[in-house]
Order: sequence, then structure tokens, then C-alpha cells
Amino acid sequence: TTATQIDPSADTNFAIATHRTQAESALTAVKQQLGQQYWPLIDGERVQTEKKVQSVNPSNPTEIVGTVGQINIAQAEDAIAAAKAAFQTWKRTSAKERADILRRAANLLEARRHELNAWMVFEAGKPLQQADVEVSEAVDFCRYYAAEMERLDPKIIYDVAGESDRYFYRPKGIVLVISPWNFPLAIPTGMTVAALVTGNCVLLKPAAVTSVIAAKLSEILVEAGIPKGVFQYVPGSGSTVGAHLVKHPAVQMIVFTGSQEVGCEIYANAAVLQPGQRHLKRVVAEMGGKNAIIVDESADLDQAVQGVVYSAFGYSGQKCSACSRVVVLASVYDAFVARLVEATKSLNVGIAADPGTKVGPVIDEAAQQRIRETIDKGKTEANLALQLPAPETGYFVGPVIFTEVDPHSSLAQEEIFGPVLSVIKAQSFEEGVAIANNTNFALTGGLYSRTPSHIEQAKTEFEVGNLYINRSITGAIVARQPFGGYKLSGVGSKAGGPDYLLQFLDPRTVTENI
Ligand code: GLU
Repeated sequence: TTATQIDPSADTNFAIATHRTQAESALTAVKQQLGQQYWPLIDGERVQTEKKVQSVNPSNPTEIVGTVGQINIAQAEDAIAAAKAAFQTWKRTSAKERADILRRAANLLEARRHELNAWMVFEAGKPLQQADVEVSEAVDFCRYYAAEMERLDPKIIYDVAGESDRYFYRPKGIVLVISPWNFPLAIPTGMTVAALVTGNCVLLKPAAVTSVIAAKLSEILVEAGIPKGVFQYVPGSGSTVGAHLVKHPAVQMIVFTGSQEVGCEIYANAAVLQPGQRHLKRVVAEMGGKNAIIVDESADLDQAVQGVVYSAFGYSGQKCSACSRVVVLASVYDAFVARLVEATKSLNVGIAADPGTKVGPVIDEAAQQRIRETIDKGKTEANLALQLPAPETGYFVGPVIFTEVDPHSSLAQEEIFGPVLSVIKAQSFEEGVAIANNTNFALTGGLYSRTPSHIEQAKTEFEVGNLYINRSITGAIVARQPFGGYKLSGVGSKAGGPDYLLQFLDPRTVTENI
């Protein structure tokens, strides 16, 4: 079948001097804008709040990126009321008009690429190149979902003689988007614009630690022409306002990316029918991974080492797609481990704004503590092959490699979300696949091999949503590698893929006797 095609947004080529200059001036300009105040957007107005939180730079936590107003329950109710009112017009707005707003948003995102990169460097601790691909992804989500909505818009005709039968879609209503900090621009953009273009009204509740970037996204959507009440930016506490909105009888759908723990809680709370609620809520949840790359005896080890290092330590391992286990066949195990350790030693750990940095900080102090504890516990379970030093100030954790890891140990089973890689030995390819599959998750996986039978076996037996053969396992591209998993990795269909928008719609059939 033919797929909807878009021209992917081009990443910045930092090898070109003028691009590096643009990036540097954006970093300087944004640095001067740190510490400003951001307010929620409710019914087209920026509203003041009693509570505020400070968002800090994880590379240098004394630097305040911005102060963000936090809505209370009454303001959450205002937002719901505004969304209800706005829905009456928005649902009747043509798909073309809605899609055009997304295309304008895409152009604005592209025009502000270097600035947005800089905000991600300061607020998320993302090294520049990792931030840059995120802007491309956000742009691609806008253009792809715009095109997808136009594909789904025409009614399907099932007419027979004397009878017209038409199949078409209606938007669900109010969608609550709860977005993560690890892709602070691309993921909220994707979830939000998918809901908007299908005719729904969105309340965006971003992760607190990256709510300034989400505020930038809210500016862009407003500038692109999104009507008041259709999109609202509602930063607030997850345990109070977030929980209130998840349980709200007017909310039709919740789209979440984040931890398995929070995802399961949302799923359970959303399932309870509240007084006055006349529908069951749909939950789309993208959760964790414990992703493995298998390296067999025929693999090109140079390629495998490079792919594993990038997949494990890119953005300090804070991607749900990251490689956290590498399963290596016994015959190449020693050679692979030696080269893996050498390659990892060459990674520069440092502040995200430094162009030479390969591994920046982790997101916050709690993450740093949790990862450090995992490393300490890991030392009692497995062999510590490498622990790189890291700067003292800032939330840094140097990359860690454990070898001889028992595939059943907690190191090999629990998601870490940090720069910690476990190497596991397998005696045969079959055993390698079994080890790779033996977790609660099924998100990404990889295989380095030049053996056609192994490649075929992996395609059918490796239980993951996204399988990558002879390449790194992060960085899925919209409309090329639709992204998402199953098992406890999530529920719902793949972001950036042909089934994604259908989740935001209810199908209807109208039959007319003529
Ligand atoms: N889509 C991203 C990737 O392919 C991962 C998203 C996530 O970590 O939530 O690397």
C-alpha cells in the first residue's frame, strides 16, 4: 500500500561553520533570556497563578531557566469549560483548515530551530545535535499528521443500489496530553498536533522540568493560528491537577508518554466511570523499555560497537528507545567487550552547551540519585567494566558498563533511564534471542549480524515494536520508522505511523435509503 509521504525536515549540519555560528549566537541569545516568567494559557489568555515552579539547567542547577506558573483545580475547571465551548466550532472546522495550522506551526518551528535547540540545551541538558534532531521530528509530526488528516477526511463510500452508505470520522472531544521531559519538544508536539488536527481540543500538561520548552511550543501554536480554548497549556502538579484531569468526566482521551508506573496509574484511573460521564476514556500510553542489541559472531564489530555506544549513551541513556542490554555471543564476547570499553572511554562527559560534549547531565537530582543507587547495587550483581568520571557540579553520571550480567538480575530487568549498559553473554543465537525477549517490555531492539538466517529469525522472533538491523536503535524518523512498542512498553499505535490519528477519532456510518 502507498504511504503518506513528507519531505523530512533537514537536521542542521554542524560541520558547516555558518551553522555553528548560528547555533552559538542562539545559545548566547537564549542565555540572556533565562529566568523569565511563564504563565499557563487558558481560553486564549495567559493567566497568573499562586503556585510557581522553577525550572533549572541540569548542567548547572544554580541557573534558573524559567519560572512557570502552576494551575490549580479551579483553573483546570476553567480550561475544561473553555475546551468544551471551543470544541463546538473546532469540530466543524475543515480538515484542510486544521491541517494548514499544523503546516504553519511546522514552518515556525523550523524558523526558530536554533533558538529551540538552545532552550533544549539549557532546560533538558541535551547536547546540541540531539536537540536538533528533535526539532526536525517536531516539524515532521506537524507535516505528516496534517497530510494524514487530509487522507482520512474523505468519506468512504459503500453505496449499493438504492442505498447510500458512508463511513467517516468524528473527533472525540477533549484530549489531555501529558508529556515527558526527555523529548521535551518533539513528543508534546506530536501528541498535541495529532489531537488538534483530528478536531479535538487539547489540554497540554508538560513535565515540570521542561515546561519552559512546552511554553515555547504554546507560543508557536498560538502564532500558527490555533483558536482560543482549542489548545491550552496547563502546567501543574501531576498528583493534584494531573490526577483531577485524568479523572475528569469531560475528558475523552489521555495521551501519555512517561514511566510505566505513571502510565499504569493513568490507565487504571481513566477506566473508572465518573458521575456524569457518558463515555469510556481512551488511553494511549508510551512507557518504558529494557531494550537489547544482539551481537552475533558474524557481526561487523566496529559497526556494532559504534551503534551500541550511541544507542546506550546518547542523551545519557534517557530515551525509552535506548539500548540498556547488549547480548553478545560467547565467541566474540571478549573482543567486543574490549572494544566497547575503549570506545566508551572516548566519550566526553560535560555540560550540554559545550560543542565537544557527547554525554551531558541527567535530568535532575532525583534521577542522578536513583541511577547512582542502581550502579551501586549493580556492583554487587555484576562485574564493573567501566565507570567514567563526571563533573562534580551539575546532575552528571558518567557512563557505566557492567559485564557478565546475569540476564535475570535486576540490572538486566529493570529500566534504568540513565547511562548504564549491561553486557550479557549468550552461548548460541537462539539463547541470545531468548534472553533479549525475556523482559516485561517490547519497545526497540537491535541485531548486528551478517548471517541471513539470523536476520530472518530476528525479524520473526525478536519481540519488539521497532527492530533495527545493523544500525543504532534510537532516533526513529516520522513516517519512516513509526515508533512504539507493546507488552508493558505501551498501549496504542505507533507515533508517526498510519494508524496513529485513528486513535483520536470515533468512526461513524450513515446509511440512507434513497
Ligand atoms: N522516538 C524516540 C526514539 O526513537 C524515543 C522516544 C522516547 O524515548 O520516548 O529514539
